[in-house]
Amino acid sequence: MRKLTILFVPLVALVVLVTPPALSQRTSVSRQFPVYNNGGKPDLVVDPQRFTSQMEIVDRLFEAGTCAIEEGAVGGTGYRRILRFDTVVMNSGDGDLVVGDRSDPNNPYAAFFEFAPCHGHFHIRDFSVYELLTPDGSLVVAGHKQGFCFEDSFKYDGGKSNGYNCGFQGITSGWGDWYFKQLTGQWIDITGIPEGDYIVRVTINLIGTFDEGENRYPNSVETTIHVPDPRKKVTIDNSPEIIDK
Ligand SMILES: [Zn+2]
Repeated sequence: MRKLTILFVPLVALVVLVTPPALSQRTSVSRQFPVYNNGGKPDLVVDPQRFTSQMEIVDRLFEAGTCAIEEGAVGGTGYRRILRFDTVVMNSGDGDLVVGDRSDPNNPYAAFFEFAPCHGHFHIRDFSVYELLTPDGSLVVAGHKQGFCFEDSFKYDGGKSNGYNCGFQGITSGWGDWYFKQLTGQWIDITGIPEGDYIVRVTINLIGTFDEGENRYPNSVETTIHVPDPRKKVTIDNSPEIIDK
């Protein structure tokens, strides 16, 4: 995910301005998940710090005709309460994740490409699941993020980007693909979920679509969260919709 709507430009500028703290976070993840000899294969892992540090619960208005409604990213129109977070998919294997181009008839992942009309590009389906669980591990509700288009968003432990984008998808070894919480679908719709303590879990490469070799690093990340009483007010986010087109 890299190409953004014009609406995101001020945030991009902000990210550039705050490079030192961002770099320190990336240094910490590069220490935690250094690139290792994985036989030339990728090893995908979610940045656990970014996942927890950006997590929040907000109310947001969803109107008919938006991508969120067309993609079923929430249970219906009107105000919905969403639990949202960043997902940064990092590649800590010594080989690139190469997903490639849907127009290539020999693409080995052709069956996993799915055209996203609202985005104007292909996503890889069934790559991840976002789940809210009870403390004993029973599923309460799952998110509906449709898919990912793999790109190099930032470097944390690598060399030069090999230039993957939504057209020719992939993640260079030592690079990360960043889906920030404001993106449509980067959430779990928790409207009406009773107050209590829950587990939030993100799992990637869910059905083993991509060969991760030794797969030294975990494919899921989780944290706990307290969901407030549904009648209690939370921050309202009425900012325009952002999709990764
Ligand atoms: Zn997209």
